[in-house]
Amino acid sequence: MGPSWYWMPDVFDRYFAYFGRRVDEFYDLVRLDPSYRVEFDQGPFDVPAGIPALAQAFESIEPGAGKALEAFLAEAKVKYDVGMGRFVNKPAHSILEFARLDILKDAPRLQLLRSFSDHVRKYFKDPRLIQLMEFPVLFLGSKPQTTPALYSLMNYADSALGTWYPMGGMHGIVDAMVSVAKDQGVKFHTGQAVEGIIDLKGKTAGIQVGGKTIEANHVIAACDYHHAEQHLMPAKFRRYDTRYWEKRAMSPSSLLFYLGIDRKLPGLKHHTLFFDTPFDAHAEEIYDRPDWPVDPLFYVCAPSVTDHSVAPDGCENVFLLVPIAPGIEHDESACERIFGQIMDRFEAKMNIPVREHIVYRRQYAHKEFIADYNAFKGNAYGLANTLNQTAFLKPKLKSKLPGTYFAGQLTTPGPGVPPSIISGQVAAGEILKSLGMKGPSEVVPIEQPAAFSAYQSVPS
Ligand SMILES: Cc1cc2nc3c(=O)[nH]c(=O)nc-3n(C[C@H](O)[C@H](O)[C@H](O)COP(=O)(O)OP(=O)(O)OC[C@H]3O[C@@H](n4cnc5c(N)ncnc54)[C@H](O)[C@@H]3O)c2cc1C
Repeated sequence: MGPSWYWMPDVFDRYFAYFGRRVDEFYDLVRLDPSYRVEFDQGPFDVPAGIPALAQAFESIEPGAGKALEAFLAEAKVKYDVGMGRFVNKPAHSILEFARLDILKDAPRLQLLRSFSDHVRKYFKDPRLIQLMEFPVLFLGSKPQTTPALYSLMNYADSALGTWYPMGGMHGIVDAMVSVAKDQGVKFHTGQAVEGIIDLKGKTAGIQVGGKTIEANHVIAACDYHHAEQHLMPAKFRRYDTRYWEKRAMSPSSLLFYLGIDRKLPGLKHHTLFFDTPFDAHAEEIYDRPDWPVDPLFYVCAPSVTDHSVAPDGCENVFLLVPIAPGIEHDESACERIFGQIMDRFEAKMNIPVREHIVYRRQYAHKEFIADYNAFKGNAYGLANTLNQTAFLKPKLKSKLPGTYFAGQLTTPGPGVPPSIISGQVAAGEILKSLGMKGPSEVVPIEQPAAFSAYQSVPS
């Protein structure tokens, strides 16, 4: 129901390598080619897998853009390597962690003070190419004008490392993690909400679940940070107050429509971005004047195009996602209007009356994110990736209650499945270190990811 883009496969590799396991023991990863389709006003643009093919496609839109792409990605690779190698595995307790000479030396190359928007325009002129390069930023939390150019590392993840898909569906990642955890002796209590984190004599003593206490010296609160801190943590150990949280810039929520279609949709791609309406107007409705969008861009995911196991024979499993401002009031008529608008555009591209073939429909937005996930303001992707909400300026990984840590998309390093996995590893590493043991990043250092090099090239 959530993540559908499997990016940064090296992060997943390292996660399983820590337990002596490999991704391919659990699921088959396929690289999508094209990685995705973008529907522009001028027609569709398929983003091919691999830099040489992508450079050629860029060149066909704007002379010189192929070389510009290579230069752009070379710079983005430096950010990815430095960011992943030196920054993301830091607990970010304080600025001092980033004050080491080798890190300071690399800092200018991260372009923290330049805007993403200016950075992209230095390389590309065609509005389609600009929009293409800016899309990962829009989905991950802030306008390109207010996002540091550092985040072009996302373009490197997209274009060079590729868009992958675990056959059987994204849930295969969860199943694999559960299996590894069970091997380690982990006991799961699913379907039960934690009601409180308990302290004794100023230290973590456990959690409260279903009115019962489970004793623990250490707790990692990996649910929505605001919920854990403001509702589960004993009041005297809360680091932040309501004013702090109200001032945070949240990344967008999403309006989702999950659809079952009782026929195949020829020509449909696994991922399609509908960028056939003005980008700036929609971005303003998310970030500047929060409201239900008048004419939104949207994204269509159809895993059944790649994987026949996720829909009955001859059918499609599809969801449509519209980024929406966080914290706005539910408005059923706006949701219905938007559904009509995006279905009109979807049907026009498919050249098929898709609505007639919908046999299942479920709508999901803020109120569901709040009810199901305790998500602050119904956020879908945590905090916006602005400069003043980066690294040690994010809500702290370590709580004021000794023994309790936070992890997940609202703390360091940030939103998305790979960063959230890293966040959990960093929190676990802090606990292990406090017990005199090595943390995940010391056991499987970034420099030696076993299968990482395999992702640099495109499989045939
Ligand atoms: C629609 C959508 C599409 C996305 N697409 C992508 C994508 O394609 N690729 C990508 O990398 N990322 C994507 N993301 C972002 C990514 O899913 C998140 O950044 C990531 O899952 C966050 O992980 P997390 O562990 O912080 O939180 P979550 O995955 O939300 O996990 C927190 C868990 O805590 C549980 N919880 C909450 N309160 C309690 C409580 N009191 N007691 C017990 N449990 C509780 C929740 O039920 C939830 O299961 C998407 C997100 C959404 C919503």
